Amino acid sequence: MMRGAIASARCAAHAAREAAGLCKGCGHAYCRECLTELDSAVWCARCLAGRLDVREGARRPWARAAGQLGLGAAGMTLLFAIWNALLEAASSVPAQYLKAGGRGH
Ligand SMILES: [Zn+2]
Ligand SMILES: [Zn+2]
Repeated sequence: MMRGAIASARCAAHAAREAAGLCKGCGHAYCRECLTELDSAVWCARCLAGRLDVREGARRPWARAAGQLGLGAAGMTLLFAIWNALLEAASSVPAQYLKAGGRGH
């Protein structure tokens, strides 16, 4: 009747894979690829991220702020590049239009 819980369990993220262990955070079964060892326990990616977040946030609050700032700067750079491309595309059309019809005589 009783089968090994872990042996028969499947990874919560990969249904085809056998579970290698239980996440200490959420208690779900995951395969080896999904589990990461930390603090002599295994964690799924989600719980690991949350745990690292708590750790980093508690130790170095500025690191999180810098990370968010870096993400913002990258986003701004991307937006700026898109804006530039749009301006270039937009400005090339009216320039030709003005040359052809606007300022002739
Ligand atoms: Zn988990
Ligand atoms: Zn998996």
